Amino acid sequence: MCNLSKTHPFRRYAWRISGVLLLWACAGCVSGPAPAGDAGTPPPAGVQLATSTDWVPDGYVEAIPPLPAKGYLLQALAQDVYFFSNGIYNTLFVATPQGVILVDPIRGAGPLLQKAIREVTDLPVKIMIYSHPHLDHIGDASLFSEGTQIVAHKETQKLLQRYKDPARPVPHITFGEQSVLELGGVRVELIYPGDGHGKGNIMIYLPQKRILMFVDVATPKAVPFKNFVTVDIYGQVVGLKRALQLDFDTYVAGHLYRPGTRSEMEEVLNYYLAAKRANKEALRRVNIRDVMRRSRSGDIERKMGEYYEAVAEACYRLLKPEWKPRLMGFEAFARGHCDIWTAFHRTHQAP
Ligand SMILES: [Zn+2]
Repeated sequence: MCNLSKTHPFRRYAWRISGVLLLWACAGCVSGPAPAGDAGTPPPAGVQLATSTDWVPDGYVEAIPPLPAKGYLLQALAQDVYFFSNGIYNTLFVATPQGVILVDPIRGAGPLLQKAIREVTDLPVKIMIYSHPHLDHIGDASLFSEGTQIVAHKETQKLLQRYKDPARPVPHITFGEQSVLELGGVRVELIYPGDGHGKGNIMIYLPQKRILMFVDVATPKAVPFKNFVTVDIYGQVVGLKRALQLDFDTYVAGHLYRPGTRSEMEEVLNYYLAAKRANKEALRRVNIRDVMRRSRSGDIERKMGEYYEAVAEACYRLLKPEWKPRLMGFEAFARGHCDIWTAFHRTHQAP
């Protein structure tokens, strides 16, 4: 299922924090003294409780540079190929001699994208490609739809037919596994690696330019977003491996202010795999009976929740020495990644 309603990369959280909620949400997050009232009752194995005053220092941080006064960054990646970013989201367009191929008309950035296109060409947008159906990436599509052929994966078409959102017109041209389009001498290959980050999330590959766009799967120098934002975590790994079989130097990830390099995509794939291995190891190390025995709860479901938290905590600690200094977002999202792998390993066995 497409998770339009779920938290999505770099969307701000509306944290609703009360003292109780904070303690519950952060149980096991950071080490620190037990809160008042819990004295004498040990937490489940491997889990330590935090107080609201605890602060864990950041790991790797890459500062986002200020945007130019015009409100966006525009960078030529190759002849006729332009990278556009509003600092948080990014996309690309190709200004060919026969018109523009635009990918992902980012929600709220449509007027700036129009301005950016006008910086380099007076020709109209002829083809618009949706990388996937998510509102935040294509929510300004209606601003570009007049006279434009919209191309997307057939799963994207199905989902947009279902949601009937006038801001996201239904694609005119769809495909299954692979498709090729050409405009003004520029070849664009569209590749579907299967479900991963939602359904219908495709790669947009420009082989002549050695450029790849693959959205919401691997932001350079960052761990994936909360809970991997996935419908199929293994599919996400398969997709990244498939992407790395392509011949490219630069990729566009859909988020933050700059494109990534091939080695940066490899690094994020290695984090996915490290989290998978750490989760397997944590499942071996954390004994469910120990956690159940130490629990204060009489609620079996809550006891199970405590077991999962203990596994996630152990997994997080295994990952921390290598990955916290390497990728942004580690403190925010690593436990959630561990949780997703726990859910996977409870139901699947895969290499
Ligand atoms: Zn998305």
